Amino acid sequence: MKWQGRRQSDNVEDRRGISGGKIAVGGGVIGIIILLLNVFGGENAKLITPVLEQMQGGQTQTEAAAPLSEEDKQLGEFVKVTLADTEDIWGKIFAENGMTYKNPKLVLFKGSVQTSCGGASSASGPFYCPADQKVYMDLGFFEELKTRFGAKGGDFAIAYVIAHEIGHHVQTLLGTSAKMHQEQEGKSQAEANKLSVALELQADFYAGVWAHYNQKNLDDGDIEEALSAANAVGDDAIQSKMQGQIVPDSFTHGTSEQRMYWFKKGFKTGDINQGTTFEEIR
Ligand SMILES: [Zn+2]
Repeated sequence: MKWQGRRQSDNVEDRRGISGGKIAVGGGVIGIIILLLNVFGGENAKLITPVLEQMQGGQTQTEAAAPLSEEDKQLGEFVKVTLADTEDIWGKIFAENGMTYKNPKLVLFKGSVQTSCGGASSASGPFYCPADQKVYMDLGFFEELKTRFGAKGGDFAIAYVIAHEIGHHVQTLLGTSAKMHQEQEGKSQAEANKLSVALELQADFYAGVWAHYNQKNLDDGDIEEALSAANAVGDDAIQSKMQGQIVPDSFTHGTSEQRMYWFKKGFKTGDINQGTTFEEIR
């Protein structure tokens, strides 16, 4: 993607220099407990952490920031330009439809992070938290996508994932996510999973719509990079890699083929009304 010298979003919170968040002075056992709570504690961690910090006399400090490498810095700038592109494009699409787009934040972190949806670690992969309307990403994920899941890599693989997470933000603003969660209630796990697949594929479709309107900034091969990433993160691809067998009822994101199909459909049409995954994927 052509990104150098272009507008960078102000909505990126770069926390990569602050791995693990706050630790108690002296570290030791308490420090480790706090870190573990941050990773696994979810909602409760927010309540428990301050208590433990008090036990240490209230003294906490932020872990010494590891300086970012030149590559880290470049990646950060790339993420800011990509987020700016989503702001411009979705701002315009919403305005054309008589709505107002609210810019989300994007948090870059390394290791673990606290969110309004609970604690998370790099292992969660990139995600969107509707409660604080922020996208959380550890860019280490993209190395893994290449080395473990055989994706091509490339900058547009990152752009695709950002655009997918922003797709969830769009679904939140449009009320689609809330409606989906409501519909899931009382359903069997398999039925609930199907609704989740529809939501995820629609986010892929929205990523395609975004790429459609960003064509002037695309390089040759960018769409292939996005498709290769979509292919790598299909439920069937991940399950066969991780557990050696495929259980379609447990799919929550859709197959590689479906993910590529819906991204491509969004890219070709650029029409937000054609993301009809809830009607078609049942
Ligand atoms: Zn998703």
